[in-house]
Amino acid sequence: MSEDTIFGKIIRGELPATVVYEDDVCMAFRDLYPAAPMHILLIPRKPIPRLCDATAEDQALLGHLMLTASKIAEQEGLGDKYRLVVNNGEGAGQTVFHLHLHIIGGRPLSWPPG
Ligand code: C5P
Repeated sequence: MSEDTIFGKIIRGELPATVVYEDDVCMAFRDLYPAAPMHILLIPRKPIPRLCDATAEDQALLGHLMLTASKIAEQEGLGDKYRLVVNNGEGAGQTVFHLHLHIIGGRPLSWPPG
């Protein structure tokens, strides 16, 4: 399933990626098709396909992802000017079915998003 996505392959080292952060729970790398000057993808090592597939068992993991996103934004010099995005499901624009947070910044970000 989601182990077979491109992100699963990146986790297993079968596909290259520009990794900016990793720990036991998650890893982050630069998006290959950036939507902004700074566009990083943060993924859990655990292959959860969509956010809506996460369960109470994943509570600590999800909290870790949020805190790590903030740490990476700081590390990458985004300060407090960044956006976190989770596209949940095909109808919301999800194309890779391994849960990921988009960390986006480096340009003005308008609201509402498209
Ligand atoms: O939320 P969504 O599933 O659409 O996000 C997938 C992201 O993965 C996209 O931003 C896309 O640019 C990125 N991607 C990538 N490397 C690939 C294929 C997709 O960084 N080989």
